Amino acid sequence: MKQFNPSATGKMSARAQELKRQGIKIYDFAAGDPVLPNHPLILEAVCKALETKMSPYAPVAGLSELRLAASEWMNTRYKSSYRLENTLVTTGGKFGLYAAFQVLLSPGDEVLIPAPYWVSYPEMVHLAGGVPVPISTDPANQWKLTLADLKKHIRAQTKVLLLNNACNPTGALYSQEEIHAILELAHQAKLSVISDEVYSELVFDENPFISCASFPEYQDNVLVIESCSKNFAMAGWRVGFAFGPEALIQNMTALQSHSTTGAAWLSQKAALGALEGAKKVASYVKETLRERRDLFFKTYNTLFNAQEICPPAAIYFFAPIGKNSAKRCEEILTKAHVALVPGIAFGREGYARFAFSQNESEIVEGLKALADKTKNS
Ligand code: PLP
Repeated sequence: MKQFNPSATGKMSARAQELKRQGIKIYDFAAGDPVLPNHPLILEAVCKALETKMSPYAPVAGLSELRLAASEWMNTRYKSSYRLENTLVTTGGKFGLYAAFQVLLSPGDEVLIPAPYWVSYPEMVHLAGGVPVPISTDPANQWKLTLADLKKHIRAQTKVLLLNNACNPTGALYSQEEIHAILELAHQAKLSVISDEVYSELVFDENPFISCASFPEYQDNVLVIESCSKNFAMAGWRVGFAFGPEALIQNMTALQSHSTTGAAWLSQKAALGALEGAKKVASYVKETLRERRDLFFKTYNTLFNAQEICPPAAIYFFAPIGKNSAKRCEEILTKAHVALVPGIAFGREGYARFAFSQNESEIVEGLKALADKTKNS
């Protein structure tokens, strides 16, 4: 048997589930799932699809109407010019990323990954035979990749730059100038850029979201990954998208034809319901999550006498937690019944990630349990 490392977030959620099964009340800040009822537009689309009483295969690249709606969603927000041929429907953003690495990497190719990073990137790169190269970022620079650091890490073997904007776990959000400069440097170094933008609609406080799709001059080497999971609170439907050059999309479609066969037909109907009312659905999710974020930080700062600042985007707080984050998270789970993900899983020791996407009472009671049980330990 080959050995694979399970995802740390999945592992922590599974631990939390196990304790829940034993009848223990667990406050789950580990899973990055926006816990929200599906918007009525999604449910209406699903009910209509169920009336056909059918459950066919969908085309491997996705239903044409969904691909068109998804490209329209991008083009309206970013003045991009994606067409059907540039758009692939995947089983979550995760499979889009997996397929992209499989298609783009040859053995030994290096992938630059700003750290802290989403837990799955390095393993996905390994699975494709590549070499993940983390580039450390700093809270003093709002956890953003600097051009100087990027330059330092580019070598002959470097093939891909993975950019995650907005970032899981830090919420780091890049400006127009920063994205432009990064894309220009990547272009000069002949790198492909995979831009993971699965939190694009969850950007708060009037901050603009700048997509890599907004720069027509670099599109030959840019692949944007999107998802319904967070933006439309549809994580369990497993629908995501990849937008990029036609040849790359074709190749990823071929890979998909031999693996997942694409996202489930009913899920694609649900996603179509969301995208046809994208503005409404996204603002319903964003407004609820902004309220949860504000409540989370207000409660946290009061209970811990802290002055932590709300992140501008995404659904996470990357909190300083002291040395040996894995041990500390284990203690917190055992003592306070609060599930967190250790920073080490994101490539940064000394921190833990909270997801603030739970409902209000879970946030308040969970933080209280954490404060009661751990404040003096
Ligand atoms: N990319 C990032 C940064 C994420 O945080 C996640 C999920 O947590 C994904 C991609 C994959 O999301 P999904 O496969 O649910 O679309």
